[in-house]
Amino acid sequence: MLCYQHHKEMLLGLVSEPAEGVLYACQEPGCLIRYDAARGYFLDTEDLKTIELEIMPRVNCRSDGQPMYLAQVNPEKSSFRLWKCPACDQSRNNEETSDGLGKKMGA
Ligand SMILES: [Zn+2]
Ligand SMILES: [Zn+2]
Repeated sequence: MLCYQHHKEMLLGLVSEPAEGVLYACQEPGCLIRYDAARGYFLDTEDLKTIELEIMPRVNCRSDGQPMYLAQVNPEKSSFRLWKCPACDQSRNNEETSDGLGKKMGA
């Protein structure tokens, strides 16, 4: 699981509030990006202005609608993103997500 902004591996973080699930946090100092399976990516801040200005990637699984996480980037192809679903392990890349109906298999 990678931070969508820094492309750094996210680590299991400690959860301060009770009743919250497992949380992942970016290793970059000062990075507010967090991830949990229920919400997907979100910012660890109460500041609505910051939240408003942040462009969050919203990629959902096609089979169960779960928010997907960024699993892989390609240093040689900066636009490439591989997204994975935490629930069913399905993956999709941004070439499919941005072009919508991209290439189809077969005729
Ligand atoms: Zn980050
Ligand atoms: Zn899924």
